[in-house]
Amino acid sequence: MSAIADNLQAVQARISKAAAAVGRSPESIRLLAVSKTWPLSCVVDAAEAGQRAFGENYVQEGIDKIASISGRNLEWHFIGPLQSNKTKPVAEHFDWVHSIERLKIAERLSAQRPAYLPPLQVCVQVNVSGEASKSGCSPDEALALCRSVAALPGLQLRGLMAIPEPVDDPQAQHRPFRQLRQLCEQIRAAGLPLDTLSMGMSHDLEAAVAEGATIVRIGTAIFGERNYA
Ligand SMILES: *Cc1c(COP(=O)(O)O)cnc(C)c1O
Repeated sequence: MSAIADNLQAVQARISKAAAAVGRSPESIRLLAVSKTWPLSCVVDAAEAGQRAFGENYVQEGIDKIASISGRNLEWHFIGPLQSNKTKPVAEHFDWVHSIERLKIAERLSAQRPAYLPPLQVCVQVNVSGEASKSGCSPDEALALCRSVAALPGLQLRGLMAIPEPVDDPQAQHRPFRQLRQLCEQIRAAGLPLDTLSMGMSHDLEAAVAEGATIVRIGTAIFGERNYA
C-alpha cells in the first residue's frame, strides 16, 4: 500500500473513533482530501485507494488537476479565497465551493454556472471566534447572506464552513465549531434546509466531528507537510 493509502486509512479510523465517541455514524462524515500544493500523482494515489472528494485552494492549480484527471469520477471542492475575476473557471469546473463570503461572488458563480451541469454546491464561510484568517462573513451577516445565496438558480446552498485558529487545547478547539453548529441550527430554524457543516482539519478533526462536522477537510494527515517554497 502507498503511504497515502495508509494515511487515508488512519484518518478514516480517527473519524470513526471520534464519531463513535459521540454516538454518530461514521458514514455521516465525509472526508475531503485537501490536495493543494501536491502533484497530480498524489491525487491519483489517493483516488486508487478509493478517495473520491478532493479540495483545492488555488484556482489555476485546481483547474490544471481537474483537466488532467478526467474520467475517474472525482468530486472537486474549491475551499480557498475566491476573487471575483476568478469565478468563471471555478463555476465551470468545480462541484462545490466552501468559501462563499460575499453575495457578489455567489451571484457571479450562479450566472457563470453552465446550464448543462447540476447547480454548484456551496457553503457560506463564517468568521467565527478565533478565526485564523480574515475570511468569512461575520456570524451576524450569515443568515441574510444564506437567504440571498439560496435564491440563486445556479447554486445549491448546503451549509456553513469555518477555519478556526489552530490551537492545541482540545476544549478551545470545540468552541468555534460549536458556535458554527449553533449558527447552522439558527439558520435552519429560519427555514433554510442546510445539511452541511464543513469544519475540522488535520489537527482538530476530532473536536469538529464531536461538534457535528459533516465534511472534514484534511490535507497534512493524508499527504504530509506542505512545502510552499
Ligand atoms: C489547507 C486547508 C485545509 C487542510 O489543512 P490541513 O491542516 O493540512 O489538514 C483545510 N481547509 C482549508 C480551507 C485549507 O486551506
